[in-house]
Amino acid sequence: MTRLLTVKNVKKTYQSRLNGQPVEALRHMNFTVEQGEYVAIMGESGSGKSTLLNLIATLDKPTAGLIQLEQMNLSEIPEKETANFRREHLGFVFQDFNLLENFSVKDNILLPLVLSRMPYSKMQTRLIAVTTALGIDSLIEKYPYELSGGQQQRVAIARAIVTQPELLLADEPTGALDSKTSSQLLQVFERLNDNGQTILMVTHSSLAASHANRVLFIKDGQVFHQIYRGEKDNQQFFETITETMTALVAKGG
Ligand code: ADP
Repeated sequence: MTRLLTVKNVKKTYQSRLNGQPVEALRHMNFTVEQGEYVAIMGESGSGKSTLLNLIATLDKPTAGLIQLEQMNLSEIPEKETANFRREHLGFVFQDFNLLENFSVKDNILLPLVLSRMPYSKMQTRLIAVTTALGIDSLIEKYPYELSGGQQQRVAIARAIVTQPELLLADEPTGALDSKTSSQLLQVFERLNDNGQTILMVTHSSLAASHANRVLFIKDGQVFHQIYRGEKDNQQFFETITETMTALVAKGG
């Protein structure tokens, strides 16, 4: 297996805006992600999930510790290179889709490729490949407001993977969707992973996490438990995740 992401002894301390006291959002964050893995991160509000995603996304730097994607130490990427780094190596899917309302579906998806100055013919090939894979090829001339939530999220996923990123980061991607649409979207993520896409997904939802191959539970800025799917199917893994959460809460997790 090839290591894709290393998070080693990462600490992030904010100065509280309220009283200037330091807030330790991440204490000793340690985990690694291998190429091709699908990892879910679960944790209550305030446990440090957004902070962690922001650091991996190079939107902020750790106070201490190391975050490495392949051989790159993210803290060493110069400020002016971070936007390029994000576009070249990472894909993002958010809870609220974050599509540009004045851009068509096609232009939303192509934007990251336009920014990286890809030749038009190559962009077209990529566009057809991702929109076909996601079942949105008939929607490319439409605008986000003409689409359902599930369709918008498929467009957002298409935009995230059209650059062929090493790592797809998803932040509560089914949080704004009804349960039927969520299930369909979770199958989309599972299929992407079956095709080799490495995924790191932050979620509150045991159902969403049950599609991953490993679940990290974080609390107070640290990983305090993790479980692997092993041979379990989604339903069995879902039961393991909910039982684990209950047990962790019962012992004051
Ligand atoms: P989660 O995403 O799991 O809800 P966060 O990463 O947002 O957790 O927050 C972790 C902790 O860090 C919380 O106590 C939060 O109040 C604090 N925190 C997050 N961002 C800031 C900030 N910019 N300034 C001060 N404290 C922050």
